[in-house]
Amino acid sequence: MIPGPVEYEHDVLAAMSRPTYAHTSKEFTEVFRSALENTMRVFGAKEGLPFVIAGSGTLAMEIATVNFIKRDSSVLVVSTGYFGDRFVDLLSRFAKKVEVYRTPLGRPADPKEVYERASKGGYDLVTVTHVDTSTGVRNNVKEIANGFRDLDTLLVVDGVCSIGGEEFSMEWGADVAFTASQKALGTPPGLAVGVVGPKALKAMEKVQPLSFYSDLRKWRDILNSYMQGKAAYFATPAVNLIYALDVSLNSILKEGLDNRVKRHEIIAESIRAAIRSLGLKMIPEEGAYANTISVQFLPEMVKQSSFLSDAERFGAVFAGGLVPEIKERYFRIGHMGSITASEVLIAVGAIERALKKNGYDVDLGKGIAAAEEVLFKNGF
Ligand code: PMP
Repeated sequence: MIPGPVEYEHDVLAAMSRPTYAHTSKEFTEVFRSALENTMRVFGAKEGLPFVIAGSGTLAMEIATVNFIKRDSSVLVVSTGYFGDRFVDLLSRFAKKVEVYRTPLGRPADPKEVYERASKGGYDLVTVTHVDTSTGVRNNVKEIANGFRDLDTLLVVDGVCSIGGEEFSMEWGADVAFTASQKALGTPPGLAVGVVGPKALKAMEKVQPLSFYSDLRKWRDILNSYMQGKAAYFATPAVNLIYALDVSLNSILKEGLDNRVKRHEIIAESIRAAIRSLGLKMIPEEGAYANTISVQFLPEMVKQSSFLSDAERFGAVFAGGLVPEIKERYFRIGHMGSITASEVLIAVGAIERALKKNGYDVDLGKGIAAAEEVLFKNGF
């Protein structure tokens, strides 16, 4: 129950053990073509360039930005936590001016303020983190993206903790969006996955990026070639991970994006009901809760390291904090991918017993009952 890597379906893992065909073979080319097409579908993209490149989400952050900025560029980072701040760190190496719109802990960005800053700032691009995994805050990307339709500035969406679990569509107006394989897409770690929209494809014509492996102009022809069923080479693709990705994407599409988002919503609501009933305080403000992760403070008397190791012994692995000033005062529950109601109940039970073991007065079963009410009401 950490926010990635998550648990993977057997057929996804089994796909990885198939023979490693040559990256130029007909067999692999067909799988890669399908994975790229499925990426477009899962991102709700009708046009643009999908990319699947070996590396983690941090590589995707780099690919999604360095291709669109020059040394004298100004950029704006909308930060709602640790992963927004990572963009500040990353972009400071490539752009001349990096400005930050940082919200107070737990508060999402105000779409109007993003629009106002973006339309006045002369930025080449603006980044926003859909769900910041450090705080569990979900930004209203739909409304933010809508504002960028009439701006020259590009909007880059970090969907690492959202795409495949939260509602998202490139059609909202985002210019680049990306995720990493290990989260809501349900594929083991190792792939940077994204889509570059038409406005961004045009903008990158004018840029010679400072990074070689991340240079999308090198990848573009290769990816387009695979999309047309013809192998091509720039750097060796992660063949077996791409088999696995294609199985995951097919299973997401088979479940249906709407059904999948709904399942994540119900699971998230049941966990929040349990957390509330146990008297713990969530970090996101009301209305800014994510459906892929729940983030809450521990009671003051509970020591985080002891809570986490007890919970693990009781059957569920959770993550500690990432926001530097408070990292030992809260914990994070990841609930994305193929998460089920049964796993929720095991996790909530482990939380209750670990809290009680660490000196917090808990009526055992109260959190489980609260979660069950939500699950039952929704037919789970
Ligand atoms: N962005 C977000 C929102 C993330 O949650 C993460 C990883 N937790 C990253 C970027 C970086 O991804 P990775 O660890 O795969 O490099």
